[in-house]
Amino acid sequence: MGKITDILKSMDYGPSPEASDAVRGWLATHKAGFGPFIGGAFAAPGALFDVHDPSTGETIARVTQGTAADIDAAVAAARAAQPGWAGLSGHERAKYLYALARLTQKRERFLAVLESLDNGKPIRETRDIDIPLVARHFYHHAGWASLIASEFPGARAVGVCGQIIPWNFPLLMLAWKVAPALACGNTVVLKPAEYTPLTALAFAEICVEAGLPPGVVNIVTGDGETGAALAAHEGVDKVAFTGSTEVGRLIRRATAGTGKKLSLELGGKSPFIVFDDADLDSAVEGVVDGIFFNQGQVCCAGSRLLVAESIEARFVARLKTRMGGLTIGAPLDKSTDIGAIVSPEQLQRIERLVEAGRAEGAEIFQAGRAKGCFYPPTLALGVEPANILAREEVFGPVLAAMTFRTPDDAVALANNTRFGLAASVWTENLNRAYEVASRLKAGVVWINSTNLFDAGAAFGGYRESGFGREGGREGLAEYLVLAELPRVPATSANAAAMSAAPGPAPAASGIDRTAKMYIGGKQARPDGGASYAVLDPEGRAVGHAGLGSRKDIRNAVEAATKAAGWAGATAHNRAQVLYYIAENLSARALEFAERLRAMTGADGAAEVEAAIRRLFFYAGFADKYDGAVRATQKKFVTLAMNEPFGVMGIVCPDEAPLLALVSLVAPAIAMGNAVVAVASAAHPLAATDFYSVLDTSDLPGGVVNIVTGDADALALTLAEHDSVDALWWVGPKAGEKRLEEASAGNLKSTWMLGEGVDWARAEGREFLRRACQIKTIWTPYGE
Ligand code: NDP
Repeated sequence: MGKITDILKSMDYGPSPEASDAVRGWLATHKAGFGPFIGGAFAAPGALFDVHDPSTGETIARVTQGTAADIDAAVAAARAAQPGWAGLSGHERAKYLYALARLTQKRERFLAVLESLDNGKPIRETRDIDIPLVARHFYHHAGWASLIASEFPGARAVGVCGQIIPWNFPLLMLAWKVAPALACGNTVVLKPAEYTPLTALAFAEICVEAGLPPGVVNIVTGDGETGAALAAHEGVDKVAFTGSTEVGRLIRRATAGTGKKLSLELGGKSPFIVFDDADLDSAVEGVVDGIFFNQGQVCCAGSRLLVAESIEARFVARLKTRMGGLTIGAPLDKSTDIGAIVSPEQLQRIERLVEAGRAEGAEIFQAGRAKGCFYPPTLALGVEPANILAREEVFGPVLAAMTFRTPDDAVALANNTRFGLAASVWTENLNRAYEVASRLKAGVVWINSTNLFDAGAAFGGYRESGFGREGGREGLAEYLVLAELPRVPATSANAAAMSAAPGPAPAASGIDRTAKMYIGGKQARPDGGASYAVLDPEGRAVGHAGLGSRKDIRNAVEAATKAAGWAGATAHNRAQVLYYIAENLSARALEFAERLRAMTGADGAAEVEAAIRRLFFYAGFADKYDGAVRATQKKFVTLAMNEPFGVMGIVCPDEAPLLALVSLVAPAIAMGNAVVAVASAAHPLAATDFYSVLDTSDLPGGVVNIVTGDADALALTLAEHDSVDALWWVGPKAGEKRLEEASAGNLKSTWMLGEGVDWARAEGREFLRRACQIKTIWTPYGE
């Protein structure tokens, strides 16, 4: 020990390692290797792989490389247990979840040490953040188990859930997945990350200790192949994945067309925006938390610093000083700020990206040195938006700094990414904070704060950061079948001859008229110039419609993108427009009824009346399907805002050609989306008549665009289009696979409604929920 005066100069702490004896003792009892946990017990170990302490490279355990047969067995166990588990009362399930929460709490220190040993993250974080949040998650969902029946009337569990988690928050990600699944009555098969399986295996023992019925939770360790087998397994009803966007895409493709529910929490490149009026010291602390927490291995890490030009020099100087004070060291040392990187491969990836960033012109500042599997806190200055460090997720303690001049610049830079997970906004001006928060394309916005998580608040991304939410009420919805759509036996329409060749004789004489499409508020001829005959039930032509092509869809998407201002209209305004559409449709009810009767032979008057009612229904909801304030942490207002996706592609069925169109488009625009609708292929003329109603109802041009033609082909173009944010498809199951595969490009949200929807009864909150994504905004209050 040095002299006190020396210590005061350096303010160095002596070593203060957390004891790891209990954990090492437990690992010793599993020296022979861990088998998979299936049906309530550990199976005999299979082929084993080593698990390392990343800070030393020491092998600390050996676990089984799960095989396809292990996944089969685990899914079978989960399937067998599911009806019994779902059949328990909510209160019974709540008692189990409560026991899991209590036991996690009682093993808090053990789990914190095991997590640090396995992952390399500082004990300060596992002890104070990860594990307490795990317990909070189980408590919160114990509560939900009691409440699901009354809060989600008519909902049921999805079934067996396949859950795949990453290595950055191993036990916390397990809790985020397992707790809501169990609360809702599902059973699970979970695959932890290859690097960090140990806390999941300890959790398996906690499940036994809690007396959880066998098969409710199954844990199969292994690598990506094990994960792929789980995601693709036919016995799985829902896949929940957290990890890289690349693997998220693979899983989107693997589950396409299977009808499996899917939620994806993927990568990010989150902006950390500091305005000139921010409290700079707090913002510097925020940066430290935003990017150096967990060595930057955080999907929502604030990895892009956007700082107002006028304060850049001051801010960077303070940040550099603060970075110099961070302690890099042994994860189990209580004074360590920056622990080990999870693996040598991940370390090499960070090194490679930083060198590439430097080569592309960034000036690299690093605080301190790191030996072994560690990486120093790093600040990249003078980063151009095209620099790799501004674009790619590094997943390390690396911050890329850029400057901006105006709030508009800041928003443009912040949104200049394919991701959309989180954002942090620092300003003392609340008006500006909310204005910017509302314009950011991100699922979570922290105002004057960063990296806040709570079981009661939704977390999840926009764009290529994935879809679906974890936490809160929205997270539960991912584990429930909320409402089955009402169905009637599917009818087959008189198939339209999708040909521009000369067609059948007309049903009545008159002046030849080809219905145009509707793009950007104007009538549009099909780009290819071709049209097709629309037939009546006897096969006679009742008119012609444009044969739309990829180009027409592209034009329509462009028009819809330009109509983004609709999202900014007040909910009251949107309601008024919907009422006005209903009013104008009512004025022309007879004409529409006749058109429907001529095309379909059905009672057109009833369909028109139902469409008017539906417009009223969603006009009524436009200002009532609103957000909420979530009860999360002390001194935070946590808002759950319903935001429109942006551009939605909607592909309409042949049944009820007017009513289905209205039933799909009205909720989408009620929530502020712009829509590209593909009309019923067989009966498009109701839709093409309908746009003249839209034209006279104060709906801004481009908010609804209507394209006619081969619905399958047009749907595929919508699915592939990177500017389409969500896709609804009504059609045969056989069409779903290729659409969902194509949607993987920009990871758009998809809703496959299937065939035979009873449009007379198909309305409700589910349509509104599917037309929105939740943005969670955290605002602190108090000094
Ligand atoms: P992955 O996305 O590869 O891993 C996440 C999980 O998926 C792991 O359990 C992994 O298994 C499993 N997995 C891998 N391939 C497949 C597959 N084809 N089908 C199903 N499951 C699969 O992330 P990595 O761990 O490889 O990290 C790579 C990069 O991803 C990081 O550098 C970082 O940029 C990003 N990342 C992002 C995360 C986030 O939360 N947004 C979390 C982790 C990583 P296994 O452990 O064996 O690979």
